[in-house]
Parts: sequence; C-alpha cells; structure tokens
Amino acid sequence: MNPEIVKLARRFRISVLSHGQIDLPQGLSNEEYLLSIFREEALAREERAVRERLKQARFPSYKGFEEFDCDFQKGVTKEQLDLLAKLEWLDALFNLILIGPPGTGKTHIALAVGNKAARDGYNVAFHTMDNLIHILKTQDISSKSKYRMQWLRKCDLIIIDEMGYLPVSKTEANFFFSLISELYESTSVIITSNKGFDGWAEILGDPILTTALLDRITHRCQVLSLTDESYRLANRKNIFKN
Ligand code: ADP
Ligand code: MG
Repeated sequence: MNPEIVKLARRFRISVLSHGQIDLPQGLSNEEYLLSIFREEALAREERAVRERLKQARFPSYKGFEEFDCDFQKGVTKEQLDLLAKLEWLDALFNLILIGPPGTGKTHIALAVGNKAARDGYNVAFHTMDNLIHILKTQDISSKSKYRMQWLRKCDLIIIDEMGYLPVSKTEANFFFSLISELYESTSVIITSNKGFDGWAEILGDPILTTALLDRITHRCQVLSLTDESYRLANRKNIFKN
C-alpha cells in the first residue's frame, strides 16, 4: 500500500489501514471500496470499545444467562431472565436487588446482566460492597480510587455485590448513602445481599439512613428473592472420587 496512505491513516487513526494491508474482495467500485473500509473500521472500533468496557467493568469472572438453570433456582423464571437480558430496564433506570442465601445464583445473575450490558454499549462497574466502600473512603487520598470514581460517575450500571457480609461503620454507611443519592435517577444499580431489607438497617447501623436509602433505591426497582438450596453445595465437586 502507498506509504502516504499508511501515514495518513495513522494520523487520522483509521486503524484498519494503518498497518498497510487490508483484505477486501477484488473488483470493488470506488464507492464499494470506501464503504468496505468504513465498515471494517466501524467494526474494529466497536470491538475495541467492547474490550475496553469489559476491562473497565472489572468482572471477577464470566457468567452468562445461558448457563443459568431455572429448574434448579425457582426464585426466577426463564421469562424473567429473558426480560432482564433485554436490558430495557436499564434505559428506564430501574434497579435490581437480588436477595438470597449464599450459593443461590445472585452474583451469577448480576454478572450475566453486567456482561450483556457491557457488550451492548453500556458502561458498567462491578464491585463488592467492601471494595466499593474502600474506594469511596480513599477517593481524596488515592489516585486509583479517584479515577475509579470518575468511571463510576460515567457508568450506566453499577453492580454492588455482597452487601451485608461485612459490617459497615457509620462513616462508611454515610459514604454509601451519598453515592446512592448521587446515582439516584441517573444510573441503574444491582445490589446482591444475603439479607432482606429488614436486615439492611442492621448492616448500615442506622435505621433512618436505611429508610432514606431504601426509599431511593426501591423507587424504581425489581426485587428477586432467591431462596432455594445452594447450587454450590448441590453441585459440590470432590477431590477424591469416592
Ligand atoms: P451467590 O452469589 O448467591 O452466593 P453465586 O451466583 O456465586 O451465588 O453461585 C455460586 C456458584 O453456583 C456459581 O459458580 C454459579 O455460577 C453457580 N450457580 C448458582 N446458581 C445457579 C443456577 N441456577 N444455574 C447454574 N449455575 C448456578
Ligand atoms: Mg455472591
């Protein structure tokens, strides 16, 4: 390819031309050739953007809707999962709260939603409650936390996993409340918890703050209660065969 094309492609950041080679069918008209290049470039940019969003989301692992067994978990139907996977509720700024004992698929569903959303163009972040509180507390003294907060403010969906496993101090509860208030009506939130709403006041150590928090979160919200037996325990793998 003409070196000047390569040079200009780099300057204008047309990645598909900047390596000096592109595989296109022979015999295209000028217009078809140009269109093919634009299409290739659009595709390459979209793939890069998806990779970047998945990286920024910081999912601990991949979980998909297709692997979720609704026959095992009676707290949610296939139709409800399909509706969640459609993500229209994100545009309508709904929240999702997944409540249930350990091993019942809360994190799995949250990750499946998050993954689909990141692939479909939504900015997503995944944090455990513990980790999120650490970021909130250190945003003024740690540049890592400050940058993460900047990303959280750009997010369409924030997943807060494992609320209620570790105790939260009064200051931490206030930080958490401020974040939820800030996100209210601008960002969807998924919260997973092993405790029902009755237990949230205990987690946050302040009934008044909890009422105000629940008021905001549950205004537009779907609550799913996963109450069956633990999938982890039922499908436990052994090291020894017998
Ligand atoms: P929780 O967050 O409720 O403690 P997880 O979502 O982490 O539970 O589930 C524990 C493990 O069991 C994960 O590996 C998850 O993929 C799997 N799992 C849980 N429920 C189901 C289900 N209904 N179908 C398929 N896998 C499941
Ligand atoms: Mg979990």
